[in-house]
Amino acid sequence: MTAGSENSIARVVVDLALDREFDYRVPTRLSALVRVGSRVVVPFGKRSANGYIVGLVDASAYPRLKEIADVVGKKPLLGDRILELARWMGRYYCCPVELCVKCALPDVVRKAKFGWKERQFVKLGEISAESFVKLQNKAPKQARVIEVLRKAEGMFVSKLLQLVGTDAATVKKLAAKGFVELSERTEERDPFGGEVFLPTEPLVLTPEQQQALDLCKSRVAAPTTPVLIHGVTGSGKTEVYLQAIDYALHQGKDSIVLVPEISLTPQTVERFRARFPDQQITVLHSHLSAGERHDQWHKIRDGHSHIVIGARSAVFAPVQALGLIVIDEEHETSYKQEEAPRYNARDVAVMRAKLERAAVVLGSATPSLESFQNARRGRYALATLPRRVDHRKMPLMRIVDMRQEAIRRKGLHVLSTRLRDAIQVRLDKKEQVILFLNRRGYATHMFCPKCGYVGQCPNCSVSLTYHRKAEQLICHLCGYIERVPKVCPNPECRDPAIRYAGMGTEKVEAAIQHAFPKARVQRMDSDVMTKKTLYREIFNAFRVGKIDVLVGTQMIAKGLHFPNVTLVGIIYADMALHMPDFRAGERTFQLLVQVAGRAGRGDVEGEVMVQSFTPFHPAVQYARQHDFIGFYEQEIEFRQQLRYPPVTRLVCITARSRSESKAKFLAAALARELKKSLTGDHNVVGEPTPAPLARVQNWYRFQIILRSDQIMRMTESVSKVVAATKFPEEVHVSVDVDPISLL
Ligand code: ADP
Ligand code: ZN
Repeated sequence: MTAGSENSIARVVVDLALDREFDYRVPTRLSALVRVGSRVVVPFGKRSANGYIVGLVDASAYPRLKEIADVVGKKPLLGDRILELARWMGRYYCCPVELCVKCALPDVVRKAKFGWKERQFVKLGEISAESFVKLQNKAPKQARVIEVLRKAEGMFVSKLLQLVGTDAATVKKLAAKGFVELSERTEERDPFGGEVFLPTEPLVLTPEQQQALDLCKSRVAAPTTPVLIHGVTGSGKTEVYLQAIDYALHQGKDSIVLVPEISLTPQTVERFRARFPDQQITVLHSHLSAGERHDQWHKIRDGHSHIVIGARSAVFAPVQALGLIVIDEEHETSYKQEEAPRYNARDVAVMRAKLERAAVVLGSATPSLESFQNARRGRYALATLPRRVDHRKMPLMRIVDMRQEAIRRKGLHVLSTRLRDAIQVRLDKKEQVILFLNRRGYATHMFCPKCGYVGQCPNCSVSLTYHRKAEQLICHLCGYIERVPKVCPNPECRDPAIRYAGMGTEKVEAAIQHAFPKARVQRMDSDVMTKKTLYREIFNAFRVGKIDVLVGTQMIAKGLHFPNVTLVGIIYADMALHMPDFRAGERTFQLLVQVAGRAGRGDVEGEVMVQSFTPFHPAVQYARQHDFIGFYEQEIEFRQQLRYPPVTRLVCITARSRSESKAKFLAAALARELKKSLTGDHNVVGEPTPAPLARVQNWYRFQIILRSDQIMRMTESVSKVVAATKFPEEVHVSVDVDPISLL
């Protein structure tokens, strides 16, 4: 143990070993220069290494610390405000501040220099047809590189390697033969470089849009409360964002726009680029190459880009004069990061805006209960856009009662008679259909009707999903795969009459193909989407009418405009309702409304058909009426009765171990300590119980659910208790504040 004076020990992430932190003593001669975010040179083993300070502390668990050798550069990479934000995240989400700092700073920026692959640009050289054939026979990877380069002007080696799935040696061999040419590139890599678009002008707003915009502008001018725009799909929310950003620009302020990763499509980005043709708009998403990410980050930080669009982590974009953060589809669960730090970008955005005195605008057709309650209580200002801009009616939603269908047709069918007839009508008119089911595979269970055997994952407490085309049983949690058995695997039984129950997208596809042999059917789920480019290919094929029926999971549920889609079918609306989650009703409502938004975006009025076994569930009924307020009122009452968020706040602690008894024992010990330190009416500490997913990849999981009205105080106590608890090595504990999933 080393003790020092205040902040005399630096926690450093060394470029040579990025996944760990090492402690170093700060020599007095450097103490004035050293800050969190500083780049430093430190002794590392027998050599010296570059590193980056992620925290300053007073004491270290290690007895003999080496000293920091030097500080590089004048300016630390992280601004004071972002640093403060990271500290707040650490406290709020019960997470080491180093992790939050790492999260705010892309790896590639932290490492400062990036490698050969990111700097080298590769183009096709000269290669004869003969040599190419030779390559194809002798070195297929090299041949593949040539093929890819033939289609492109050239690209960074990193990108190429990613596309081909090979390593740098392959490229170097080709370069030695002159088949490809390498050059060094330091100029900026613009992932959208060379694209053209037609500039657009601001539209004349409807009175409701104008009100919403005025509210946003007033907040940009003088930040007070966040603004929530509750606007149905197609009501013109994006147009309001665009004009608010424009206003911010004129005030000399920067904007960040957060959208769910899945909505970060070229169409979305193009709308922004077209409106601000003179601006360098930065797009941050998970598919950027390291080099691109590096350039974009510096471009923003150096003040060359005033508009940033991105998914979750763009909330940390280092803009210099933050004026506005827009969070579109604010209810989306993908804003929550499911690994430490388990932050929600929406909530971090609100905090960042507060620290930097900027405006926050949240938008959704189906706001989260949390945000809408904030609006009701006056913590957020509310703007409502109740109508589609084009005055088109909301699509008609019909509910098919599958219980009656099952009685009438003596059994369960994928397609009800009504849905099948409706599809027929649309196909006859050469219109398009989208069918939605949020589960992939063919059947959800394999079972033996004779002995009752059910195919279970040996590593997880879930049943295996049957994939017919692949003839496999797959665990959707851990990826375990088994061949489909010919007879019941129970050695006492061995009956050949194995059956399958439940359905997934593969079965829907088969059912459609069977019912409409001439229809062109395409499935879209993560089994089909083995390549990123397929996503675009399939959507393009659908757009130009080469596909009649698109069957898919949540991948197809949002964000896209298809004018010729006149029927959307939801195969099994109740699926989310049966999840062990207090938000099941909210998720179902959101899903139905969002999916319904896909229908009838063109000139023909759309129709939505929802198959349900619980047609009178409020989530289904309110969705049918497109009645968000009605849904909110009844749902919030349910939350009040059971004291669930947003009425109270939750923390979910999970202890996991390979040993069931150790996980259980530790959860019990933690619960005891938590009960001791969290007293009073504000706090409830639940009993430790096995998690709904009791075993995942052979990790046994136990949960403790905590509730509180005073979340900051609760997380403070939780951090203390967790820090003071001695964990046996084989047990891991995670703390999830404001959890989205309680599985
Ligand atoms: P949302 O983001 O709420 O789904 P959008 O902003 O995408 O809605 O608007 C839907 C469509 O209506 C877009 O094609 C958009 O260009 C158009 N639109 C939006 N506002 C107006 C307006 N004031 N006048 C005319 N068209 C508009
Ligand atoms: Zn498994």
